[in-house]
Amino acid sequence: MTAWTTSAGQHTVECTTLPRPRPGPAQLLVRVIVCGVCRTDLHVIDEDIPPHADRVVPGHQIVGEVIATGADVTGYDIGDRVGIAWLRHTCGMCEYCRSGRENLCPRTRFTGWDEDGGCAQYAVVDAGYAYRLPADVDPFAIAPLLCAGIIGYRALRRANLPPGGLLGIYGFGSSAHIAAQLAMASGARVAAITRGEGNRQLARDLGVAFVGDSDDVPPEPLDAAIVFAPVGAIMPQALAATAPGGTVVSAGIHMSPIPEFSYDELLFGERDLRSVTANTRADGDQFLRLARQLGITPHVTVYPFGRVDTALEDLRAGRAEGSLVIAVADDAGPADQGDAAK
Ligand SMILES: [Zn+2]
Ligand SMILES: [Zn+2]
Repeated sequence: MTAWTTSAGQHTVECTTLPRPRPGPAQLLVRVIVCGVCRTDLHVIDEDIPPHADRVVPGHQIVGEVIATGADVTGYDIGDRVGIAWLRHTCGMCEYCRSGRENLCPRTRFTGWDEDGGCAQYAVVDAGYAYRLPADVDPFAIAPLLCAGIIGYRALRRANLPPGGLLGIYGFGSSAHIAAQLAMASGARVAAITRGEGNRQLARDLGVAFVGDSDDVPPEPLDAAIVFAPVGAIMPQALAATAPGGTVVSAGIHMSPIPEFSYDELLFGERDLRSVTANTRADGDQFLRLARQLGITPHVTVYPFGRVDTALEDLRAGRAEGSLVIAVADDAGPADQGDAAK
């Protein structure tokens, strides 16, 4: 099969040929239809987070079709539409797994970091970690929900935003623009602080209450803030913009160092500083149900399978707004979705 890989120390991706994976007894073999591109894929490729494999296929927002099942798999049929996301293994036995916090399990394994992901024609996943998707959904609209969406959902829950409150969103990419829709659908107001006129225009198009450049201060104190940009210097900036009693959440897997800041001025006043670490499968199930109910729709830029490298560079350079999705299969769908094949 054709696959894009990154190797330890390489800091780039290359298109190559790999043997088609074979499903283990508990696994599904999935024909990949589309795969979303996530900033975490860049962190893996750039080794901002340490390599977990000598060579890996990136991509962890996979929508595909089951084409074979392992001997022990029940409940899945050939042709079923499934999603494969970031979290792909937990031990099931540790204190975290037994208390509904499997995202903190020390034995977690992740798609596109520990094991091969979706920038390839085929992928495998343990059936217990696949998301069952309705047959009628647009794969391009679902793929970004599988990481960007789920992480945004978990970040929003951890932000403890009061009903009708003002949420600051720092950085306005794939995860942020989905979280903004979710927050506004539940009655919150959103202030988007972001670099890039394209990102600011997307925020305006979605109807957020305030849109500012990266140094701008929201017009009134925030009840909570989520920092999606992987930039540590934003954390004290977000704390300064947040009212006493408010919460600031960092949603990323990696962030540059946070500069020293004044406890008295920025943290005292019972401001909470929190992080988000991956997600549980329950988060995913809840969010995908909610997104369908609320009609959450990502703004998608589509790239052909031959342009995975271009998509990653566009994400790095901030050249594409919203969510970037690779059309992996030839029959992935209509080409009228904001095709970015430049
Ligand atoms: Zn565990
Ligand atoms: Zn991701």
